[in-house]
Amino acid sequence: MGYVGVRIAPCVLCKLLSTDGTLKASCKTSRGLCLESVLMPMGWPRSLTLCASTQVGCAVRCRFCATGRRSCAQSLSGSEIAGQALRASSMLGPALRNGVTYGRIVLMGMGEPMLNYGAMVRAMAVVAACGLHGVRSARDITVSTSGIAPALYRLCRDMPVAIALSLHLHDGLARRLLVPCFSSAAVLSMVDSCFYYLRVGGAGRVTVESCLVRDISDRPSQANGMARSLARLACMVNLIPMNSIGGGVYSPPRCRCTAGFALAAAQGRSAIVPRIPRGLDVRASCGQLRA
Ligand code: SF4
Repeated sequence: MGYVGVRIAPCVLCKLLSTDGTLKASCKTSRGLCLESVLMPMGWPRSLTLCASTQVGCAVRCRFCATGRRSCAQSLSGSEIAGQALRASSMLGPALRNGVTYGRIVLMGMGEPMLNYGAMVRAMAVVAACGLHGVRSARDITVSTSGIAPALYRLCRDMPVAIALSLHLHDGLARRLLVPCFSSAAVLSMVDSCFYYLRVGGAGRVTVESCLVRDISDRPSQANGMARSLARLACMVNLIPMNSIGGGVYSPPRCRCTAGFALAAAQGRSAIVPRIPRGLDVRASCGQLRA
């Protein structure tokens, strides 16, 4: 494992505090670009979740995501990734920081972590070893991926973190409408790699995410197919209604479709958990980071 120095955390350019307590920070990268991270105080016992970025822009270019409107302009160094954890809690005032007992990190910010694999793993190893951001072990870290299957096989050996697979649709052809850079046959290999991850990785958890986009992925027929595809994983499914990102051809789902999807998906073996958006008023919610 290479060395990652985290004494120089990215310099904070600006902070925006949402009415729900979520904080979005914009930081300057080594190349003078801008990365965004989000801090969310959560529940009880009080924890602080940091949604960190691994790249500026993203080559995956999901159609529902503001980050994906720009291709990858910079893959962050290990220091820049771990530095977000180093800086995180000091960005909150004492009133919000009080009573926080531990921290979690989700690599769900800007970029596809698996396309910056080496730096991402080195950074998370340092975070877990040093307990940065109050992380207690690799289990407090979740790596989100759009489904780079070979990297999942590798990660399984390197670090037992939790995985969030952004599957969205079980039907590969329809999935290409939202995530165009994957072939229509890729869904099967993604589910296989998650199955392997659970079986061999042992300690790691797998959650599947489905971004609900109006008239594409919010249909109960998609939910039924998803439930069938995921039957052998028996994992938790996070439903994420698309957030508005301004412009583009896709829109958030109608409420009744979200409920219909959840109902249909619940027929399978997976637990269905709708994700409650955080920081919408400061554009800090899923898919809204852009810098
Ligand atoms: S959703 Fe994730 S993988 Fe897709 S474009 Fe946005 S940052 Fe990249």
